[in-house]
Amino acid sequence: MANDDKQFVTEITPQQEDFSRWYIDVIKKADLMDYSPVRGCIVFKPDGFEIWEHIQSELDRRFKETGHRNAYFPMFIPESFFQKEKEHVEGFNPELPWVTEAGGEKLEERLAIRPTSETMIGHMYQKWIQSYRDLPVLINQWANVVRWEKRTLPFLRTSEFLWQEGHTAHETEAEAREETMQMLEIYRDFVENFLAIPVIMGQKTPSEKFAGAVDTYSIEAMMKDGRAVQAGTSHYLGTNFAEAFEIKYLSRDNTQEFVHTTSWGVSTRLIGSMIMVHGDDRGLVLPPKVAPKQVMIIPIGPPKTRDAVVALSDQLFTELKKAGIRVGIDDRADVRPGWKFNEYEMRGIPIRLEIGPRDMENGVCVLVSRISGEKKTVELSNLVAEVKALLEQIHQEMFERAKQFREDHFYSVDTLQEMKDSMEEKRGFTLAGWCGSEACEKKVKEETGATSRNIPFKPAEVKHTCISCGQAAKHTVVFARAY
Ligand code: AMP
Repeated sequence: MANDDKQFVTEITPQQEDFSRWYIDVIKKADLMDYSPVRGCIVFKPDGFEIWEHIQSELDRRFKETGHRNAYFPMFIPESFFQKEKEHVEGFNPELPWVTEAGGEKLEERLAIRPTSETMIGHMYQKWIQSYRDLPVLINQWANVVRWEKRTLPFLRTSEFLWQEGHTAHETEAEAREETMQMLEIYRDFVENFLAIPVIMGQKTPSEKFAGAVDTYSIEAMMKDGRAVQAGTSHYLGTNFAEAFEIKYLSRDNTQEFVHTTSWGVSTRLIGSMIMVHGDDRGLVLPPKVAPKQVMIIPIGPPKTRDAVVALSDQLFTELKKAGIRVGIDDRADVRPGWKFNEYEMRGIPIRLEIGPRDMENGVCVLVSRISGEKKTVELSNLVAEVKALLEQIHQEMFERAKQFREDHFYSVDTLQEMKDSMEEKRGFTLAGWCGSEACEKKVKEETGATSRNIPFKPAEVKHTCISCGQAAKHTVVFARAY
């Protein structure tokens, strides 16, 4: 068994040695995905896809609770639609794939495969909205989108990805801005309380905002190598798309007005973030609320008691399953328990339940937490409650650990050199003053490799001078190297 252990561990590159390698090793070994023959596109294998399904169903519930409904729009978008909003086309053109031929004939107008659906939805809303009585329109779409990315990384940045995109239209700016913030807050709450990832909420600088938006807001998360991931965005689009697509309504004062629109999205990137925030050198560490299996039962002990222990394990399996817990059982006789322990640790299952003949006699079993490795002996008569409490505790512990890590790797800096050192040696986020000029933001990027992540709503400290030019700072900004 010692040999198996050793062999197992060496198959995953340690995080400290090469974090990117570690990431690839883990997602491959845990069987979450596979590469496809097309560059930058991945196959979601059942365990990877199930994580997405749990993300989807919880978000969908929250969207519906706040009055949104799902619809579906076509994936092909006529080229002329993109020409209507200047910034939008400039931003997305380099990443668009085009369909030029279909049914053996050249198309009269090229069709883009959607990178996002503001244009298609703008076209439809123009037909659907006539009066203030038609507003607000609160629609969400679950779909795949394509952006031909130069650099790709499974889940985090792929050429085709799965996401949801919300698109709403409102009478007033105030109402649309309120919606933009409401959805950002839903994302924050979901990512923190479901995926156990602490995030920084804030506004994007103009150079980082969505192409065609008036204001973009984001939640940003820190990975274990100190890099940032933009985990979700919510955009106030003003009347930009309404003007481009002529989405007008008859107001309460009998005048023709443009609607104010918003859009907001999170994608399968959340899966990659979750892995990079929580994983360790033994493999995945899955947040209990999205883990395909929350508990894995492993019967142990010598052959002569095996049948009885397995029979009891089956009962426990049924009891947990009935209680709504996602449980598995591995009662294979020809595979050693040590191998199973390693396997399910590597797959990130939050709780391992061990039961042997002596436990059976005593009416107990042992629960082992993936995150802390702690073992707890619990009464079988109280198993469901114990498992539920431990799942909740694991979630909390994962969140606290991730938060502590972020605090330990968050640096307040006053010079570009300090910022560079923070990125390279200390690996983390930096907080710095910024005068508001694009030139200074560019200089920061050139000299340190960091981009502005967002202007946090609640900065830990307010900075007074620009990190780049030394003039008065207009904003306190989080800068980091990002995925
Ligand atoms: P956007 O429409 O650009 O605001 O993107 C919405 C969300 O989709 C972002 O906040 C990201 O989390 C995610 N996203 C953007 N590009 C990609 C990509 N290439 N792969 C996976 N997720 C992405």
